[in-house]
Amino acid sequence: MNCTHHIQNQVSIICLAPHKCPCQRRLCVECQYEHEVEKQHTVPIKIFQEMMMKKFYKSYPQQTSELIIQRKNFKEMLSSTQNKLRQIWVGLEDSINQMYEMIEMEDKFYVNFITNNVNPTELSNTELEKLVSIILGKTQEDRNDQKKSYLMQLEMIKKYWKETQTFCDNFNTELKGIMQFIKKKVNNPWENLKEIKSVYNRKEDLYQVLTQSKNIDGAYLNEVIEMLRNEEITNCLKFFSDKTQLKFIASMIQNISEIDFSKKNYSTENNDQIRKELIKKISYGQHIIEFLKFLVSL
Ligand SMILES: [Zn+2]
Ligand SMILES: [Zn+2]
Ligand SMILES: [Zn+2]
Repeated sequence: MNCTHHIQNQVSIICLAPHKCPCQRRLCVECQYEHEVEKQHTVPIKIFQEMMMKKFYKSYPQQTSELIIQRKNFKEMLSSTQNKLRQIWVGLEDSINQMYEMIEMEDKFYVNFITNNVNPTELSNTELEKLVSIILGKTQEDRNDQKKSYLMQLEMIKKYWKETQTFCDNFNTELKGIMQFIKKKVNNPWENLKEIKSVYNRKEDLYQVLTQSKNIDGAYLNEVIEMLRNEEITNCLKFFSDKTQLKFIASMIQNISEIDFSKKNYSTENNDQIRKELIKKISYGQHIIEFLKFLVSL
């Protein structure tokens, strides 16, 4: 693949710097020369592949077998629940149907006897027994009671059904958050901003403050700058302190502004050495450089 900036050159280097890379992370030797990042962040393709292999093989094999088992367990859990519920519903449907059929059949038997003037001697023994007990005044009451108890059973079913509805609703609200999280991850699998720490530890030394920028993603800082521009924010510090995600940055800026520079006068000649040391240390930390760039562009 040839470099889009220097068409005559092959892309031979991958940029690993934590920034929004102007070269889409594909560098040729000339790009590398112009690229303002530490040398250790520009990696030849072959070394990049080796690094990837190492990372991959360290975690891959055991993770996959674990994932396979987990996935299988989840699948079994879901399908067994589904089966159980289906069995219950099918059983319930059957008994409801049977109950209504029985009520209908009995009603039909009596209606048929009355309207068709059936000869009682031609009935089966059980049917005749039924009629006799009606005449004796017992069965009609029993029958009414029985009908009532059927209807009561049906009412009970309705009650359980309502409980099921509530259960489904609760389940839905509880799981909605999880499902939304999964959906977001699936739609945007590479969105992997470092979770920004919210607990800030105050430091007295400037370098110590700056090293904490390792908790902040460079690409994220670019996004913040864009956000400030778009929303025409003038009081950055206030804006940062109001946002949970940006509180950490606000604390860092606050900390830097409160460091007593007079105690350690960085500008006197005596402290020339300290200054040089600081600059050297800072230049090793890509995160610090990104953060300083960010501060300057505020
Ligand atoms: Zn780059
Ligand atoms: Zn190039
Ligand atoms: Zn380039």
